[in-house]
Amino acid sequence: MNAVDAVLSVIFPIENSDGEIVNIKGYRAQHSRHRLPVKGGIRYSSQVDMQEVEALASLMTYKCAIVDVPFGGAKGGIAINPNDWTEAQLERITRRYTMELCQKGFIGPGIDVPAPDIGTGGREMAWIADTYAQFNPGDVNGLGCVTGKPVSLGGVRGRAEATGLGVYYGIREFLGYPEVQEKMKHHGLIEGTTMVLQGFGNVGYWASKFFHSNGAKIIAIAEYDCGVYSRDGLDIDKLSEHKKRTGSFKGFTDATVVDDPMKLLELECDVLIPAAMERQIGLKNVKNIRAKMVGEAANGPLTPGADEYLRQRGVLVIPDMLLNAGGVCVSYFEWLKNLSHVRFGRMNKKWDEQGKSKLLNLVEANAGRKLNEAERRTLIHGAEEHELVYSGLEDTMIVACHETRSTANIKKVDYKTAALINAIAKISSVYSASGSMFTK
Ligand code: GLU
Repeated sequence: MNAVDAVLSVIFPIENSDGEIVNIKGYRAQHSRHRLPVKGGIRYSSQVDMQEVEALASLMTYKCAIVDVPFGGAKGGIAINPNDWTEAQLERITRRYTMELCQKGFIGPGIDVPAPDIGTGGREMAWIADTYAQFNPGDVNGLGCVTGKPVSLGGVRGRAEATGLGVYYGIREFLGYPEVQEKMKHHGLIEGTTMVLQGFGNVGYWASKFFHSNGAKIIAIAEYDCGVYSRDGLDIDKLSEHKKRTGSFKGFTDATVVDDPMKLLELECDVLIPAAMERQIGLKNVKNIRAKMVGEAANGPLTPGADEYLRQRGVLVIPDMLLNAGGVCVSYFEWLKNLSHVRFGRMNKKWDEQGKSKLLNLVEANAGRKLNEAERRTLIHGAEEHELVYSGLEDTMIVACHETRSTANIKKVDYKTAALINAIAKISSVYSASGSMFTK
């Protein structure tokens, strides 16, 4: 299943702070090139190896298909712990890796477009874009060679929070389905839903922020070194402020700090959201899980055995390839912005406002009541870039959840199987439409 179309494996030397030369291993796997470019993040982690990168590349193929992002799937990684390196060294590593991608045809707006993943972010994406530009001077679409860039360098507003926001939209959608409410004995609203999260990085932080601000009660968040628990619900802004200031949850006085973070995943709650790493819930701990729904915000947080066990016990699992697809969805919007060379909303914002204003004048004249300035402003407001991005993401997630639910109900399968069935059907329709010139 993970057989990939093409792989690149490179080794290059970089000097560390002790003056030693370290051989750095980097990978990129392109799983399916049925649509181009292929798309997927680049992670920096000491656990990275070729097999992991290939497996994650295949997940990207299905993920893109599920949310109708017209790309193939890819993934990259560098086997380093980013904390072991200075910023200058990380820049050198990133640029050197990008040079390899450029020379071997593994990057380009129409070929392969990386993005952030574990251990990388806007800073690394900016280095990648800049290195690509040096190797491809005059490529007018060059900024589309990578997504997740800072807004000042061609990024799109809303990309940073996209995965977490997509997780929120997805869970909200599933909780709204009557068959889910019946199975979970749940009222169907985010408000008052008890939740436990694992991870407070980009995905965990933004997901918890959106759940919290919409009334969910987040009773615990587990990090790698410790966790926090509060029966009355955590204040996410306070927690995040503490983490930013001290680098950890330790010493947070508004909740109980727990030494064994994995224990928190076993708390009774409505929804458990693992938003950290893969293989966090396996046969060892799955028997202790007491959530009624598990939302896979990370890539592959459940082992196949754990997934099977939960299914048999009637726990609903919302699969990663659907639930965390918000990131790649907004990456697609960023790529579109880069190719069109214009900010979303720039051409039509004022036009929309003027049209609505004229309409309001007409309504006011007939209704005999004048709106006050604030009312008028809210009604005529034309969309800003981030509002269009949020709206596109929300619609995408709702449609993808509906398609998954509908296949699950018709074929009487779980949501993961349903999402895969839909993805494979969409991918195979591309292959069959493109003829058999190279296969027969
Ligand atoms: N790394 C993210 C993922 O696993 C985003 C990929 C992308 O935006 O291309 O979905």
